[in-house]
Amino acid sequence: MGANVLIIEDEAAIVDFVVDNLRQDDHQTQSATSVREALVQLRRTRPDIVLVDIGLPDGSGLDIIRSVRGGEAGDPGVGIILLTARAEEQDRLRGFARGADDYVTKPFSYPELLARIAALHARLVRSTSHDVICVGALRVDVSARRASVDGQAIGLPAKEFELLVALARDPERVFEKTDLLERVWGYRNSRTTRTLDSHASRLRRRLEDASPGSRFIINRWGVGYALVAGV
Ligand code: CA
Repeated sequence: MGANVLIIEDEAAIVDFVVDNLRQDDHQTQSATSVREALVQLRRTRPDIVLVDIGLPDGSGLDIIRSVRGGEAGDPGVGIILLTARAEEQDRLRGFARGADDYVTKPFSYPELLARIAALHARLVRSTSHDVICVGALRVDVSARRASVDGQAIGLPAKEFELLVALARDPERVFEKTDLLERVWGYRNSRTTRTLDSHASRLRRRLEDASPGSRFIINRWGVGYALVAGV
């Protein structure tokens, strides 16, 4: 999937070169040649990634980064790659301090720029995509830490939520107690299975209260627990 890239740079030759190449690689591109124009474009085009030159005719690219991360221009979560000259090492550090994600040094090779855009875009997509697990009537939104049954939200304490996620990631599988203890509490200790048992029984009760007559958590005596589709 292509990224929507805004290039902010006052050297026309660089803009043309980058725009031509990115378009051939199926990215969408916009460009701006000044701070003023950049702020307008940021609000108008909602880019995924912004390439920011530091030395612009009416100011510094660093000010653009500050405006973006401060929520004054466009999406504060946009990916930012600095375009810096070799002599601008201090500015590069200032750029990172203001929230730039990466940089390339001019003159840069196009494959290097493309690789950095792709890597940053993949990171952004991962961090914003929602991790949702559905098992029968149960829906677990892992990113938002919310669970519901038949659309009815269930309030769960942190460890019960994590236990639910561990079980729901692999429905029907019977997880051994020591395995669940390690996944949810992060240690191996056979003496603390009582902790797991009490959390599992509270979790089971909450799910059953939300959907009377259905069973989600199954206790396989002497082995461990499984999550099933709730019938
Ligand atoms: Ca410049």
